[in-house]
Amino acid sequence: MRPLPEGLFLCAVCGEARGKTPDGRRARCLCEGIVCTWCGARGRHPISDHYVPRLGHWLHTPWFMPMGHVCPAPPEARLGRQWAELAPDP
Ligand SMILES: [Zn+2]
Ligand SMILES: [Zn+2]
Repeated sequence: MRPLPEGLFLCAVCGEARGKTPDGRRARCLCEGIVCTWCGARGRHPISDHYVPRLGHWLHTPWFMPMGHVCPAPPEARLGRQWAELAPDP
């Protein structure tokens, strides 16, 4: 494997590169991503960069990345939780 850029190290949990380079570039690993409320699937943090050692370069995750998530949770599971905190109708 190619050496990681200075400041990056491999995450002990997911094995991806994370950390910050001396010139201020931040690599976020999968652990620092976002989790789907309904199915628990983990995705990359929107508007972030990550470093792929195998390719030897950086990749960017755009803001619209979560829109591509096709949630496998059944419709029953996807209803309810977001309304749970709302007061019931009088
Ligand atoms: Zn990680
Ligand atoms: Zn989901």
